Amino acid sequence: MLKFLKQVGDYAKEAVQSALYIGQGLSVTFDHMQRRPITVQYPYEKLIPSERWRGRIHFEFDKCIACEVCVRVCPINLPVVDWEFNKETKKKQLRHYSIDFGVCIFCGNCVEYCPTNCLSMTEEYELAAYDRHELNYDSVALGRLPYKVTDDPMVTPLRELAYLPKGVLEPHDLPPGSRRAGLRPEEIVEQSSTATP
Ligand code: SF4
Ligand code: SF4
Repeated sequence: MLKFLKQVGDYAKEAVQSALYIGQGLSVTFDHMQRRPITVQYPYEKLIPSERWRGRIHFEFDKCIACEVCVRVCPINLPVVDWEFNKETKKKQLRHYSIDFGVCIFCGNCVEYCPTNCLSMTEEYELAAYDRHELNYDSVALGRLPYKVTDDPMVTPLRELAYLPKGVLEPHDLPPGSRRAGLRPEEIVEQSSTATP
């Protein structure tokens, strides 16, 4: 008899514990039912990339002096700088320039070390192609102006989580002029320059 009562007691204890666990699980579910979805409806909505995003490289042909520094600092010697020596001016003359984004690791070394700043990283990240050879951009493709999410009238730009105002976790329907949490990079620079004597 005692054994039977102990079994009933154990069963009741386990039943209460199970109900507790189910309640805990459902409380998370019910909590989410009160929140708005944070899904980005791509391609109608797109996140604004962060300020230091390393996207497709932009190249300015006229500023390039064909020094090939970008090739030497590239971990895989990727940029192709095709030049010829101009005997009249006694200078290198650039003929073609290309970067294969199918191989590039977007480390930014070439941009960092280019002495004439003719390379820059844009916020363009949609580089998908059916043929990988299409990712080999020549100087014309590299010179195309970068695509910006905020300039596209067909797209609703959404702020990344890090750029939302303090306490806001949802990027839809932000009131106009709402500030991001924390200071912008230029404000930090300004603050540090005024702080130093
Ligand atoms: S480092 Fe800059 S200037 Fe020199 S070849 Fe490369 S892109 Fe041209
Ligand atoms: S971003 Fe890096 S990998 Fe790509 S071309 Fe420049 S240096 Fe090379």
